[in-house]
Amino acid sequence: MSHSHLIEADRRHLIHPVVNYRSHESRGVTVLASAHGMFLRDASGKELFDAFSGLWCVNTGYGHASIVEAAARQMTKLPYATGYFHYGSEPAIQLAALLAEKSPTSLQRVYFTLGGSDAVDSAIRFITHYYNGTGRPSKKQFIALERGYHGSSTTGAGLTALPAFHRHFDLPLSTQHHIPAPYAYRANYANDAELIGASVAALESKVVELGADNVAAFFCEPVQGSGGVIVPPVGWLKAMRDACRRLDILFVADEVITGFGRTGPLFACDAEKVEPDLMTVAKGLTAGYAPMGAVLMSETVYRGIADADAVAPVGHGQTYSAHPVSAAVGLEVMRLYHEGRLLANGVARAPQFAAELEALREHPLVGDARHRGMLGALELVADKASKRRFDPALGLPERIAAAAYENGIAFRAFADGILGFAPALLMSADECDILFARLRKTLDDVLMQADVRAAVRDKASADEFA
Ligand code: PLP
Repeated sequence: MSHSHLIEADRRHLIHPVVNYRSHESRGVTVLASAHGMFLRDASGKELFDAFSGLWCVNTGYGHASIVEAAARQMTKLPYATGYFHYGSEPAIQLAALLAEKSPTSLQRVYFTLGGSDAVDSAIRFITHYYNGTGRPSKKQFIALERGYHGSSTTGAGLTALPAFHRHFDLPLSTQHHIPAPYAYRANYANDAELIGASVAALESKVVELGADNVAAFFCEPVQGSGGVIVPPVGWLKAMRDACRRLDILFVADEVITGFGRTGPLFACDAEKVEPDLMTVAKGLTAGYAPMGAVLMSETVYRGIADADAVAPVGHGQTYSAHPVSAAVGLEVMRLYHEGRLLANGVARAPQFAAELEALREHPLVGDARHRGMLGALELVADKASKRRFDPALGLPERIAAAAYENGIAFRAFADGILGFAPALLMSADECDILFARLRKTLDDVLMQADVRAAVRDKASADEFA
């Protein structure tokens, strides 16, 4: 198909995730054609530095022949094996055992899904089954964070707290509740301890309001991704985990983004020795080379489900759960993280990545910089003193995305002026320099636009840059 035919066919037939359908039709698709290492190439031949690992998933970078070979070997030998009727496959069993070994010790049982949304959905189903099966059927209320993202399944999208996922979808459900995000930049706490205390107090008072006997679980991302890369202070995750134990509710760590080296260690929970009751993962599990996610669960939760009924099956399954090709990819990706030293490279590169983001605080458009490991964000504001955002009518995120494309870089420009970055753990020091040279040029180019410059409160510094 010619390039123009592809664009036309896309416009007519392909429904894209999380876009305004009519705007997409008028804008048209950007067809990605190939990739290698840190770089993407689109169908027009334009090269883009991928500062977002696809969708925070290609943690290894592109073009690893060993992953392709692992998939091809498994496809040739056994392209599909059902997990139903007590069947299984070697790579899926090995990957489950490896995840149990490498994840927090509380987590010993693994259920494989196709991605993150169905991992969250599965976790919700398992938790419901667990409480019903262990004689506490009143525990049906779920608590999550404002600005949280837990995918877009029918129930998971209600734990998600982003307006677009609720509007016209009749969500959140009456059993789904949200407490404030640990958003230091936009909350006025004197220090980290105060912020952590406020989060714990908010969880405790929500549980009291709902009644402890009615609350099933608290879900959170260790660093909130799609809500704007909100990085809580060190100690926050542990404090929330401990609060859940005291409150007798399950603690679910949604590590779909933060897992697999994104924040440094294999899991963000490892950094604070947090042992969740359940953990959801996806993305970096297979580094996007094949679809796969998982729910990891504690022996206690597993036992509650397993012993609920002597003979009846646990009615939860998917045709492609524990897919052998995805599992073979996952095993090779895990080898690259460890023996291939990708985790170590991510840890080594993180200080440079952090320093470059911090240096951009001086830019007239930037109000905040935040980061953990190879996950980072810049928050753009019209007024640094009051932290006032740009008027949405200015369409700043669209302008940033357009300038980024011109400058050969791809990252996430969220609607509220937050820019998200999640480069592959593979990134070298020179490639990090390329990322920030292109990003800085992008910010400067947008600042050169007269109406953007006019909207910046600190005119002197904006004019100086221009
Ligand atoms: N949970 C979190 C924390 C995520 O960031 C995402 C996706 O970005 C999901 C769940 C949903 O994963 P998926 O898009 O694979 O369904």
